[in-house]
Amino acid sequence: MKVTVFCEMSGGMEAEAVKKAYPEGMDRCLQGIFGPGTRLISQHEGEDGSALTEEILNDTDVLVWWGHVLHHAVSDEVVERAADRVRRGMGLIVLHSGHMSKIFTRLLGTTCTLKWREDGEKERLWMVAPGHPICAGLPEQFVIPHEEMYGEYFDIPTPDELIFLGWFPGGELFRAGCVFRRGHGRIFYFNAGHESFPNYRQEEVRKVLTNAAGYVCPAQPLAPPFGCPSPAALEKL
Ligand code: ZN
Repeated sequence: MKVTVFCEMSGGMEAEAVKKAYPEGMDRCLQGIFGPGTRLISQHEGEDGSALTEEILNDTDVLVWWGHVLHHAVSDEVVERAADRVRRGMGLIVLHSGHMSKIFTRLLGTTCTLKWREDGEKERLWMVAPGHPICAGLPEQFVIPHEEMYGEYFDIPTPDELIFLGWFPGGELFRAGCVFRRGHGRIFYFNAGHESFPNYRQEEVRKVLTNAAGYVCPAQPLAPPFGCPSPAALEKL
């Protein structure tokens, strides 16, 4: 499985709390989850994401996306290039604040807005699809000690598969782990990963992500570009 991690590294990633959570950089921590050979594209201020080239996408089974304040800077050309691959079968994992990324909102077609609160609350994640490949090896619930609260209403289309619900002590619930199908491709959204908490080091979170990569990875080569052909009849008319 060829995984490419696209991770925003804006100036905010230089903040003390982020450096403490990820001394090596959150982008490198994410890369490490998916094992040797995982490609990393870090997006810095002033960059438009064009490092995610056609050549790289052609060599990617699963694209992992973390972004926050630089969503707007990613060029539409890059977004369409990646979205086209997803429709043709490439897997996509969108993390945390990636809910507002262009790639996610374009593929889902809704605003993908939600409620949020940065109070470092714990999150209790409940598995609501036991037996699903993304849940393999995980307990029926687990706690992330500190996470940014994300709450409903989350303006997404009804997920094709709802895998996790998140509960926060402030009272909110959130559809924390969802699968969507677009064309031949599968998309997994997972809320964990606010940059100032080391949640990508947590064993259960890493397990969710590696399971998800296996689940969204295409079983076959990408389909050819979509079109509206007008074929000759197969039967005599
Ligand atoms: Zn956040």
